[in-house]
Amino acid sequence: VSRTETQVGAAIEELGEWQHALRAQFPIITAHPEQAYLDSAATAQKPQAVLDAVHTYLTTTNANAGRGTYPWANRTTVLVEQARDRVKRFLGDPAPERSAVHFTSGTTEGLRTVARDWLPGLLADGDEIVVPFADHEANIVPWLEAQQHLARQGVRIRVRPMPYQRASGDYDHTALAETAGGRTRFVAATHVHHVYGGDMNIHRIRRAVGPDAVICLDAAQSIGHLPVSVAELDVDFVVFSGHKAMALPGTGAVWARRSRGPDFVPGGWSGTPNTVGIASLTAAMNWLDAAGTDRIEQWTVALASRLTDGLRHLDAYEILGCQTSLAADSPVQRRQGIVTFRHHAIDSSDLGFILFSHGFMVRSDQHCQGRAGERTGSVRVSPHVHNTVEEVDRLLAVLATLG
Ligand code: PLP
Repeated sequence: VSRTETQVGAAIEELGEWQHALRAQFPIITAHPEQAYLDSAATAQKPQAVLDAVHTYLTTTNANAGRGTYPWANRTTVLVEQARDRVKRFLGDPAPERSAVHFTSGTTEGLRTVARDWLPGLLADGDEIVVPFADHEANIVPWLEAQQHLARQGVRIRVRPMPYQRASGDYDHTALAETAGGRTRFVAATHVHHVYGGDMNIHRIRRAVGPDAVICLDAAQSIGHLPVSVAELDVDFVVFSGHKAMALPGTGAVWARRSRGPDFVPGGWSGTPNTVGIASLTAAMNWLDAAGTDRIEQWTVALASRLTDGLRHLDAYEILGCQTSLAADSPVQRRQGIVTFRHHAIDSSDLGFILFSHGFMVRSDQHCQGRAGERTGSVRVSPHVHNTVEEVDRLLAVLATLG
C-alpha cells in the first residue's frame, strides 16, 4: 500500500458521511443509481437547492432587470447586482469596491470578452502576450483573433507559446522565466487543465512575468471544484462557466481586478441578462460554500487518486499528464479530479461506448484541446462530490477486463 493509497483511504473514510448526505441532494443522480456520471469536467449536475432557486425565481419574481419600476423588476435588478457581489465573495475578492463582475454565457464568451474589450487597452506596439497552445481552444483562439485585430490597426503583438511539460502536466515555469521579457504584458493561463487535470502553478507564472503583467485565468475547471481565491492567486482576470459549477448552462462570469466603471463592457446594461441563470449561479455558489469547496476538492482528488493508482497497475493503459495525484508523491504539482488515459489498442470513442454499456458516462476523443495538445484521443474521467468509491472501483474492474 503506497503513501498515496493510505492518504486516499483516510480522506475517503473521513468524508464518507458528509459525501453520502451531499449525494442525496442530486435528483438526477439518485434517480439513476445504476449509472455513474463521471463527466463533470464537461458539465456538472445540479443539486436540489439550485433547482429550487430556479423554480422560485420563475414562479415568484421573473421580470427583466434594470428596466421596470414595479416590484418584480426591482427584485430582479437587485438579484443581478447581489449576484455580482456574491461572485466577488465566492472568489475571496479583497477589494470588491474596485473590481468588476461581468456576466457571460460561459468561459468561452468570457475569454472572448476579455480579448475583445480589455486586451487592446492593455497592449502597445511591440508588446508580447503568452498563449497556452496545449490548453482548451477557448483559451487560444480569442488571443489570436485579438492579435489580428490589433495588427489591422497597426499595433503589432508578438504571441509567445506558453512552454509546457508533458510529463508533469504543468507549464514549464523555468522555460517561461527564461523567455518572458520586459515586453510580456499579458498571460493567458489555465487554473486546472481540462485534459491533464494538473493544478497549474499560477504563483510561478506571476514570479516569471513580474507584478505588472496581466494574468487572465481560465478557471472553467477549478470554480466549483476547489477553493479559488483571487487574493491568493494574484491574478487580474478570472473567467468561468456557471454550468460547470452546478448552475444552469448559459451562465458564467468574468471577474476583473480593476473596474473601468460600471459599463466596462460596451453595451453594459443594454442587453437582457440571463436572470434565471444568474439566480441559479447565486444558489450554486451558496450551495458550494455550504458544502465546502475544500472538502469537495479533497473528495474528488481522493477518487481521482484511487483511479490513477488502479490504472497504474493495468498495463494496457497510459495515463496522460502527471502520474500521481497527491502532493506528497508529486513534487511537481498536484492533479485535481480529472484523470485522462488511453488504451494501447482500443480507440477512445469505442472505449467510451464500452464504458457506457457498463453504466459509466465519461468523455472520450479529443476534448477541444489546442493544436499543441494530444493528437490521439483519450478517455477522461472527472468525478464530482456525488461520485462514490464504489463507482471508481467498479470502473477499474471493468477497465481491468479490457486489459
Ligand atoms: N476552458 C476550459 C479549461 C474548459 O474545460 C472549457 C470547457 O470544457 C472551456 C474553457 C469552455 O467552457 P464553456 O464551454 O462553458 O464556454
